[in-house]
Amino acid sequence: MRILVVEDEHKVAKALKEGLEGEHYDVDVAHTGEDAFFRVNTEQFDMILLDLNLPGRSGMEILKTIRKRGVETPVLLLTARDAVEDRVAGLNSGADDYLVKPFAFTELLARIRALLRRGRAAETLHLCIADLDMDLVTRKLTRSGKAIEVTTREFEILEFMLRHQGQVIMRDMMAREVWKESARGTPINNVIDVHIARLRRKIDQDQTVKLIHTVRGVGFMLREGEP
Ligand code: CA
Repeated sequence: MRILVVEDEHKVAKALKEGLEGEHYDVDVAHTGEDAFFRVNTEQFDMILLDLNLPGRSGMEILKTIRKRGVETPVLLLTARDAVEDRVAGLNSGADDYLVKPFAFTELLARIRALLRRGRAAETLHLCIADLDMDLVTRKLTRSGKAIEVTTREFEILEFMLRHQGQVIMRDMMAREVWKESARGTPINNVIDVHIARLRRKIDQDQTVKLIHTVRGVGFMLREGEP
């Protein structure tokens, strides 16, 4: 389980990271709103611990923007004792729960476990765009009800694209998230392009509405019609 801790106070962030790692969570820390926003848009987390009081882009702004973009990762807000209005606004803006600082670590753990349980229960079993449907349980792919055979890798690529539909997907994002290649690894742009071309043939050939689009010089986008 991977948790993103968004907290500008380094001491607090470090304590949270160490405590949660002690409970066998994978923990990443973002110290600014900008960094948090970037991470949420390019990586997958199971939960976000979000401090509302951040310099620059505020926690509330981040929350609203990621929810608007369809990111459904559970968000647990960390708020100041006197900021009751913030808590209400946070919950109205798509936060799942909040915790008032200072809090007991055991309380934090209990909230995290509860949210992760809830998250799993509500996990999506299908991803879709237009008439393309991906069943994550049976791993079957159909377009207009007709089965499409894809390889495991193609399935993973398409799953990643479906989870980020409407967004520009850069090749290095795909390399990192699908192939698990770090930035230092050999560039695999050609490999990615070959897979995308193959997926395109399987999904878009002979279809009036194209779903996979090239964003020139940047990467790809999955959406209904031209971007
Ligand atoms: Ca803070």
